[in-house]
Amino acid sequence: ELDMAEKTARMLGSSIAPQTVHAVDNVSFQISTGEVMGLVGESGCGKSTLGRMVAGLLTPSEGRILFRGKDVAEMTGAEARAAALDIQMVFQDPMSSLNPRLRVRDIIGEAPRVHGITTRRETAAYVEDILGQVGLDPAMGKRYPHQFSGGQRARVGIARALAVKPDFLVCDESVAALDVSIQAQVLNLFVKLRSEFDLTYLFISHDLGVVEHISDRIAVMYLGRLIELGDAQDLIARPNHPYTQALVSEIPTFETGKKTYSAIKGEIPSPLNPPRGCHFHPRCPHAHARCREEVPALKEVAPGRLSACHLNDAA
Ligand code: SF4
Ligand code: MG
Repeated sequence: ELDMAEKTARMLGSSIAPQTVHAVDNVSFQISTGEVMGLVGESGCGKSTLGRMVAGLLTPSEGRILFRGKDVAEMTGAEARAAALDIQMVFQDPMSSLNPRLRVRDIIGEAPRVHGITTRRETAAYVEDILGQVGLDPAMGKRYPHQFSGGQRARVGIARALAVKPDFLVCDESVAALDVSIQAQVLNLFVKLRSEFDLTYLFISHDLGVVEHISDRIAVMYLGRLIELGDAQDLIARPNHPYTQALVSEIPTFETGKKTYSAIKGEIPSPLNPPRGCHFHPRCPHAHARCREEVPALKEVAPGRLSACHLNDAA
């Protein structure tokens, strides 16, 4: 079980822009063992930052990330090393995250060997087995990353993460670079691996259609804030927040493969200078005076459903 129980998680900007960027602000949720939590939002909403914090690649300047009930920042020694293996990240672009000079079998086999999961002798057979699990011909291990198609490289990236026997995968735009038909194949692989390896996922995507395919619950972020969270099918059938409603209306229809229409007007404001009050008010068709002044609290609006919109107070 992973618990994002922080009050406020902030990330410092780079030295070029030394402002404090509230990339992720007041986000709090739990993911249960075996669950797939989808995390959706437009680029710049903070979902990648959140994913990197969960995966231990970024440290929140405030707030906590609990894994199996313990604050990961307070773990040391063997416990910290075990958590670092148990939580793995599957990146967006396997080409830039795979060393082009290494054979795929060495890319996949390195971490399990270094961490003592396999002996040097066992590693070759272990890697062949994992290649098979992700739907690749084990003989392909001797090839280099550039000799693989985009979909195959995505499978290599998944194999590399699986090789250290993780319990929890943070998947950040893991199918975004792929054609739609290949996306579906790789998503189906994630579904298969989840049950075969008892995995838990935080599945991050800008594409609600992708997240819908795989998630038990969905969290929606907008400009660093969690604005809605609930059961995946119910959230898509009955979105509460105007931003989620707009996202749902943009899910491509299967018949045409095209977006029906774009319901979200306007540009995403800069995360450096977000609008006052409800961050969504400049784009919201229901914005009213209160929205420009007061941040809407994330509240339970139905069993298991959280939403942050002042309209829920009106009735
Ligand atoms: Fe729209 Fe106001 Fe609700 Fe924000 S709080 S989503 S601006 S109605
Ligand atoms: Mg991103």
